[in-house]
Amino acid sequence: MLHIPSGILQDMIAHARELAPHECCGILSGKNQTVTEAYRITNILANMAEDDLSRFDGAKLSDLQRLSPEERADIAFQMDAREMAMAQRDIRSKDLELLGFYHSHTSSPARPSQTDITIAMEFEDYRKKLNLPEPLHLIVSLEHADRPDIRAYRIQDSHPTEIPIQQTSD
Ligand SMILES: [Zn+2]
Repeated sequence: MLHIPSGILQDMIAHARELAPHECCGILSGKNQTVTEAYRITNILANMAEDDLSRFDGAKLSDLQRLSPEERADIAFQMDAREMAMAQRDIRSKDLELLGFYHSHTSSPARPSQTDITIAMEFEDYRKKLNLPEPLHLIVSLEHADRPDIRAYRIQDSHPTEIPIQQTSD
């Protein structure tokens, strides 16, 4: 169970709506599976023109280039590394833990895509080397515009398991 104040849930939905049709992304921190802080992180792919994408290398991005712009907007996010580092520094200085990553799906359900699973597994390799706690992966779905849906998953060995979210009052 992950506990999240309603104000932070509302802010994640607002963030998703502001960035649509691009995906938003961010980091959640707190203690004892209770979120106390959310950090909006710039999705560098959302700001990138078609031509700039081709300058990236790596299997993940070459896969993205094969997709239509609509498909790509739906699955593509890459967190700004400098902002991520600043968030991690803030988390450490407040003696909090990194509890999760979030991103939005603008027209698909709140379930991890194959790309999301690949990204989560890449993070796992890095995380184990740095001895960081295991984060959850949250998805804000705007598939039904009037009923946004937020779900959290643990992703282990490329297998997502949903973890219930308990909304708390601020
Ligand atoms: Zn996704």
